[in-house]
Amino acid sequence: MQQFKGKGIGKGVAIGRIFFYDKGEEAVRRETIDSVDAEIERYEAAKAKATEQLQKLYDKALVEVGEENAAIFEVHQMMLEDEDYNDSISNIIKTEKVCAEYAVATTGDNFAEMFANMDDEYFKARSADVKDISERVVRVLSGRETTSDLEEPVILVAEDLAPSETVQFDKSKLLAFVTRLGSANSHTAILARMMSLPAIIGIDIDKSWNGKQAIVDGYKGTITIDPDDDYMKEMLLIRHRDEEHRKLLQQLKGKPSVTKSGRKIKLYANIGGVKDTGAALDNDAEGVGLFRSEFLYLESEDFPTEDTQFQAYKSVVQNMAGKQVVIRTLDLGADKQVGYFDLGDEDNPAMGYRAIRICLDRPEIFKTQLRAIYRASAYGKVAIMFPMIISLDEVLQCKKYVEEVKQELKAENIPYSEDVELGIMIETPAAAVISEYLAKEVDFFSIGTNDLTQYTLAIDRQNAKLESINDSHHPAVLELIRMTIENGHKGGAWVGICGELAADTSLTAKFIEYGVDELSVSPAFILPVRAEIVNTE
Ligand code: PEP
Ligand code: MG
Repeated sequence: MQQFKGKGIGKGVAIGRIFFYDKGEEAVRRETIDSVDAEIERYEAAKAKATEQLQKLYDKALVEVGEENAAIFEVHQMMLEDEDYNDSISNIIKTEKVCAEYAVATTGDNFAEMFANMDDEYFKARSADVKDISERVVRVLSGRETTSDLEEPVILVAEDLAPSETVQFDKSKLLAFVTRLGSANSHTAILARMMSLPAIIGIDIDKSWNGKQAIVDGYKGTITIDPDDDYMKEMLLIRHRDEEHRKLLQQLKGKPSVTKSGRKIKLYANIGGVKDTGAALDNDAEGVGLFRSEFLYLESEDFPTEDTQFQAYKSVVQNMAGKQVVIRTLDLGADKQVGYFDLGDEDNPAMGYRAIRICLDRPEIFKTQLRAIYRASAYGKVAIMFPMIISLDEVLQCKKYVEEVKQELKAENIPYSEDVELGIMIETPAAAVISEYLAKEVDFFSIGTNDLTQYTLAIDRQNAKLESINDSHHPAVLELIRMTIENGHKGGAWVGICGELAADTSLTAKFIEYGVDELSVSPAFILPVRAEIVNTE
């Protein structure tokens, strides 16, 4: 038995096998082979498996993101059957007597280049797809699976994980996350908590762990490889205790989130998409306080259309059945990158071209999203909030686009609600400092403590090296929160907190003392926070 210690960023205990997630960035080697026939057979078998995976992805996407977005996996299956593509692979194997991995990778590169040089926009766009299918077949050939191929749930161990990778994982196949890099407020950590999974960062991971039995202790931040019987018994007990505690918390379902002195706090859920509404409702969320709409973009291969977005927002709003749903407009950039946006490299992306800055710079994208949200507002209680605000001018610009969109919908006779509350995220010190003026322009504030901590302490939330001083409890952060709540109220806005700090039960009483109106947390934290609220004076 071997134990390694890092930092726990998602609580709980997980017991299972390790799946070492390799991004597949290793170069494909050109190895010579003895039997051409056997190699072609290997390729055919890998192609069949890749087709099977694509079919499964299609079925899953159809349910989760609709037919339009799922169609890409059908296109990929067709491309795998293309005669020229297959001829090229078998020719390379036959003439050069090389392994299938090399033949597929070379064909993929050649075809991608050919497509990229075409004038027709449709074929140009297929360049990335042909690379994608080739990488999939190479992964199958070299045994580097992805989680969707796994039979049983696993402990996922990786060097680092980007949000765009994390959202691809099949959640039903995951028990825990363990990485070397990452930080407590990174979006990957947030996703782990959204999935209620134990997670640890800062572990000196080792590829040889792949397939081994292990225990992740998210409380102590340890991973234990090949645990002995005594340790296993001890951890099974803790897991059992957690289950009992969860059952106890169930008694708070249906109870109001009211303090002993009678103050009602709105206890909302943070979600990343339609699929999280089940967990939000199961955990008795009183609304959605933060719908991170950018996950819709991260999960797409191309810009999601107005209709695709409308369907997603409408489903969330309908699932929440009259409870308020606060949709945050697109917050891409920094660690949340999508290829088709082509945001470009930046020296300092955390302080760069992101969130509302992109939206105000590219109004066609912004207005498409606003139209989709307003259309969904006809089906329930919708609110909109804008991320990364630093100035009054930005708020006024956002409101101008909102007005334009409403006028357009009216002219087109498309129904929408006039009761959509407009709010902003307070996640920059600039916004907190001028919050008294901002409050007069909006219905509500939602304090994003993850970014507020990052910008107040000048610590990149992605930087694992600074994790020990990345302290959201820093007095400067707490003072900005207190001040924002006070100023929000002065200007007539209600004030919530939707960053990770909202789920920190050691601060619940303090936030209530500051006068917070709403707390929005990952679904798994709703009942623990309610337990704290009902015990507060
Ligand atoms: C925040 O910054 O606290 C927040 C809620 O937004 P995100 O974590 O998505 O940046
Ligand atoms: Mg933020």
